Formats: sequence, structure tokens, C-alpha cells
Amino acid sequence: MNKNLKTEKYFHYKISPIKIKIKEGKAKMINEKINNCCCGGKEKFHKIENNNTCPVCKTSGVKVKNITVRHLVVNTLTELVGDTDYYICMNEECDIVYYNPESNVKFNKKQVKMPVWFKKDANPKYACYCSKVTEEQVINAVIKDGAKTVKDIIEITGAMKNSQCEKNNPLGKCCHKIIQEAIDKGLSMK
Ligand SMILES: [Zn+2]
Repeated sequence: MNKNLKTEKYFHYKISPIKIKIKEGKAKMINEKINNCCCGGKEKFHKIENNNTCPVCKTSGVKVKNITVRHLVVNTLTELVGDTDYYICMNEECDIVYYNPESNVKFNKKQVKMPVWFKKDANPKYACYCSKVTEEQVINAVIKDGAKTVKDIIEITGAMKNSQCEKNNPLGKCCHKIIQEAIDKGLSMK
């Protein structure tokens, strides 16, 4: 058996020593990558983790642009916002909305002008922040008016008319996705 292995190795080597070298090089590269993940990468990983977790509930947050935070934090606290970007806490149970791990500035639900739709007890629950269309209105449009698509919702409710999601939506993203989720919710209730 040993003899066979030796012969095989020799055989490959004979045919293509370069190929073997490439293979060895690749294995070395992969090993290095793995090593980086476990040792060198560790520090970086922790850094990212520390940088985006909510200071209260420790859930990973989603980055939100400064312009969005500046626009949605109550006027009396605008000065505190500064000019950096923030994270938003996605945990529905947590009272924290925006936080900046570097400056330690954070804003809770009461310090934000709009109820954040995915937070517990958000009232009203907006599906479209720009045109102030609620999740309830979208669901009603689905159940009562037979709306099926975002386009239908736009026509029936007037959602997304004055799209300025960057300033109005707490995530600073287009309301399209939240509307779709509300439609799905409505369709499932039918
Ligand atoms: Zn939180």
C-alpha cells in the first residue's frame, strides 16, 4: 500500500510538478485564511461586534445615516446628534432606537419623533412614513379593496407619493419593503 502511494505521488510529480506546487500553494493560502479567521481575524470580528451592538440589549444594529437620525430625533435633542452615522436597534422589545457606540450617544423611543414600526406597541404603525400610510390602511386596502401589489396600495392609499424615505423612514430606506410586508400580512388574513 505504501509502495502504491509512493508510486502515485511520484507519478503525479513526474507529470506535473507545477500543478503540485500550485496545489500546495493553494492549501497554504487556505490555511493562512483559516488562521486569520481564528487569530488575526478575531480582533477585527470583536471590533465590529462591539461597534454595532445596542448598548442596552446587545443586539446587532443596522447602520443609519446621520441625515435620517438628525431628521427624526426630537428637535430639543438635535444638537446631540453630531455629524456621525448611527445604528438602529432592531430588537422590538428594546426602548433604544438610535445609538452611536463611539460617542455613546443614544436615543430611545420617546426621543424620536415617529413611532418605529417594528418596535413593540408602535402606534400608529406606519408602513409608509413619507405619506403617513399605516399598516392598518394597507391591510384594509388588501382585504376590502382587493389590493395585491405595492402598485395597488400606492393607487388606493396614496402611499409613496412624496418619497423622502431618507429623512422620514426610521431606517432611512425606501418604504417599499414595509408596504410589501403589510400586504403579505393582509393577504394572510384574508
Ligand atoms: Zn436595543
